[in-house]
Amino acid sequence: MPQRALASVNLAAIERNIIHLRRGLSGGARLCAVVKADGYGHGALPSARAALAGGAGMLAVATAQEAADLRAGGIDAPILVMGAISRQELPIALRTGADIVVWNGRFVEALLVSRAAAGDSRAPTGVHVKLDSGLGRLGTRDRSEALAVAERVAAAPGALTVAGAMTHFATADEDPEFVRVQLGRFAPFVSELRARHPGLIVHAANSAATLREPASHFDMVRCGIAVYGGDPMNQNPDHHALEPALELSSYVAAVKLARAGDSTGYGRRFIAERDTWIATLPIGYGDGIRRALTNNCDVLIGGRRYPLVGTVSMDNVTVDLGGAPAASVGERAVIIGRDGTVRQTAEDLARRIATINYEILCGVSSRVPRRYHHDGQPAS
Ligand SMILES: *Cc1c(COP(=O)(O)O)cnc(C)c1O
Repeated sequence: MPQRALASVNLAAIERNIIHLRRGLSGGARLCAVVKADGYGHGALPSARAALAGGAGMLAVATAQEAADLRAGGIDAPILVMGAISRQELPIALRTGADIVVWNGRFVEALLVSRAAAGDSRAPTGVHVKLDSGLGRLGTRDRSEALAVAERVAAAPGALTVAGAMTHFATADEDPEFVRVQLGRFAPFVSELRARHPGLIVHAANSAATLREPASHFDMVRCGIAVYGGDPMNQNPDHHALEPALELSSYVAAVKLARAGDSTGYGRRFIAERDTWIATLPIGYGDGIRRALTNNCDVLIGGRRYPLVGTVSMDNVTVDLGGAPAASVGERAVIIGRDGTVRQTAEDLARRIATINYEILCGVSSRVPRRYHHDGQPAS
């Protein structure tokens, strides 16, 4: 009997995506696998292990706690915490030995205070200086401020090291022109900093830039969505030979005949025009099936595609099987993934509701158990 709701994650696909992405890198750049937000919904720890097995040289997360969770799970690979770190989070970040991102002198001072308070006996904290070359979020827009921050870091040799220089693109998934504008602002910063700190790692590219702009690869790329087989342009992952790692499924819990005029679900948003068979799947927005998919999604059952009809509720959705009871109770029903020759991707769902695959994948809720496998062989 299939499970109520299941996210089945193929770790071999993650490994192959990493290998595939690495093959496309220019000039020996390494790959940093981004496993923030619980590995884009796939599970941070198993995803991190699969990425390392595929040859990722570093892992990146957004928050200090995410780094701590990786360490608690036994990951000893280098980690970069990419996000802003509050004073309260600083001790957590420092305990993990992760590299962190800075862009102003005040934060460097806080870092030194926090390190001193902790006894300062650990290896120096690797610091990546962030230039805001056009995304307009974190980082400094001012190249001389960024250089001054690097010098302040270099002046605290036992405690801090200048480990990297970075920026982040605003339009790598849509506008290559602005990527080049950002590269043009980043390049002079990189050459000045490299001249003074020859060992540092320069990185800028997310998945989209990795796939579309080799000039952005520098010493390392930071890939998230593509690691999981998602297309950063929200198109078909096949276009870049990416293999979606996650499948989301449920099962047919009830099948009943709706007579013409009968409705299904809250608000009676589906009313049968003719007699039709309705299957109910015990999965809903509480599991991450967005309510906006009401009357606007497919479900794959028995290798065929059927429309989701009626309102997506917290715990159930309903599916129109048509004039014959084409599925029976207990059959597996696929929301994201493949069933025989039919497929529905996270990108397909995202396009229907004007969002992106990232949000669909991160949205698979913690109520959904994850099952890990390697091409169908259960993972230990
Ligand atoms: C999330 C993130 C990435 C990864 O982006 P993808 O588009 O998923 O590859 C890279 N860099 C930074 C700074 C990020 O926050």
